[in-house]
Amino acid sequence: MSKALSISGLHKTYGNGVQAVKGIDLDIEEGDFFALLGANGAGKSTTINIICSLTNKSEGEIKIFDHDLVSDMELAKAKIGLVPQEFNFNIFEPIREIIINQGGYYGIPRDVCTERANDLLKALGLWDKRHEQARNLSGGMKRRLMIARALVHNPRLLILDEPTAGVDIEIRRSMWEFIKKINAAGTTIILTTHYLEEAEKLCRNIAIIDKGEIIEHTSMKELLSRLDTETIVMNTKDPVKKLPVSEDFVVSKVDETTLEVTMHQSRSLNVIFHHFSKHNIRVSSIQNRSNRLEQLFMKLVDNNKNKGDTT
Ligand code: ADP
Repeated sequence: MSKALSISGLHKTYGNGVQAVKGIDLDIEEGDFFALLGANGAGKSTTINIICSLTNKSEGEIKIFDHDLVSDMELAKAKIGLVPQEFNFNIFEPIREIIINQGGYYGIPRDVCTERANDLLKALGLWDKRHEQARNLSGGMKRRLMIARALVHNPRLLILDEPTAGVDIEIRRSMWEFIKKINAAGTTIILTTHYLEEAEKLCRNIAIIDKGEIIEHTSMKELLSRLDTETIVMNTKDPVKKLPVSEDFVVSKVDETTLEVTMHQSRSLNVIFHHFSKHNIRVSSIQNRSNRLEQLFMKLVDNNKNKGDTT
């Protein structure tokens, strides 16, 4: 299978000195439904804007279906459809015209664009509104218009930058049904989001970006499997000199009298108590830590922060 996107050594420093992207390497397979997850300011939009030639990179190489974004720009760009965060169409233009005119930028004949626009308007539930000016659409409809416009030239890679911000649940659901359908038909999808739940439900693979660096790149399944473990914080009566080692759980020291113990959820706490008592560790209190994806995300970001502190 070919790669939809290949990024190597990508750097971006803005004119004001902000290093928004610091050496990103990322490969996304054709047909993937991929999440680029990160907190606000992590570098998601900068990365997407570089891929879509809206911002210049400082360093690095990008290939879209093997077309180099610099030396083979036209072909590379024709393969990408972008749904940006902000509505950026002419609000006084009828919506079918907006879609058709976008096709013109890619040199597609008007009759071909019209047919394609008709199909997209129907598929996205906007057919009845086709002659309306964009300003008369609801927020959810405007979002769907953005998707239709991004797809008019039949891109093989669709990038959605925070697509559900401000979209209500019902519209969100139907929007995702549509996106899932085109993914099943072969279009590669990249979704940037800070909604973990959305990424969890939809995406097969995931990269987490923090302060311009990829700190995790794995399958959603693998990431979620880590949630089968539970972390418990234990306070001990006396300072712990030597950490107990066990095959059943992993212990790390927070401070002299605080331990973090991670074990599979199916295991009983008694296993820990039994082992601790053998090592003369007396527990004074325990706190259960929840095991949501959110926590895993925070932990990954925290680890990255600590790494940054020591270097
Ligand atoms: P995200 O999309 O993950 O919220 P961005 O890529 O927008 O993150 O921003 C990454 C960093 O780059 C932030 O510190 C942001 O303030 C900075 N930044 C983004 N755009 C610009 C710009 N045009 N000029 C200067 N700094 C920018």
